[in-house]
Amino acid sequence: MFKLPPLKYNLDALEPYISKKTMEFHYLKHHQAYIDNLNKLIENTEFEDMSLGTIIRATANNPTLSSIFNNAAQTWNHTFFWNSMHPNGGGKPHGELMTDIKNSFGSYENFRKEFKEAAVAQFGSGWVWLIKKDEHHLAIKKTSNADNPLAHDLEPLIAIDVWEHAYYLDYQNKRADFIDAFLDHLIFWKE
Ligand code: MN
Repeated sequence: MFKLPPLKYNLDALEPYISKKTMEFHYLKHHQAYIDNLNKLIENTEFEDMSLGTIIRATANNPTLSSIFNNAAQTWNHTFFWNSMHPNGGGKPHGELMTDIKNSFGSYENFRKEFKEAAVAQFGSGWVWLIKKDEHHLAIKKTSNADNPLAHDLEPLIAIDVWEHAYYLDYQNKRADFIDAFLDHLIFWKE
């Protein structure tokens, strides 16, 4: 049985950029629903005792297992997203990660521009990720719906959820403003 993982901050800690109301729906209802659905779908199946990562890899690209994939990936994606943010986050990374950003994108400003463009351009529901291409090279990847880097054997560093439920209560149709808030005030660079 999978359980909703605890947040590392309070539900109101990301205000004013993400409201407590959004967190109550997004974390307590949407994230919980993916976990509840997954638990029901895998009960008494070969997936019941597997780790989340194993389930995601085992069901990716298999149309007959898409419900399990979608709910397992969304369970994993949301935890990764919560851990990509911090109440004192936002702005540039430091140290080696900043060097890797410069080597991969030319400058932090160019990384910020490319990440924002990808997150604005993702059509419909999905995610945008900063992934590790190799030891010192990073790249931006968009995925649709529940799809994620694990399904493509890629290692993510940062995720932003661009499903409408992630921002609609706070930003309505202004997805770009949500992305600006994420980049400038919330992004958490694990160093
Ligand atoms: Mn979401």
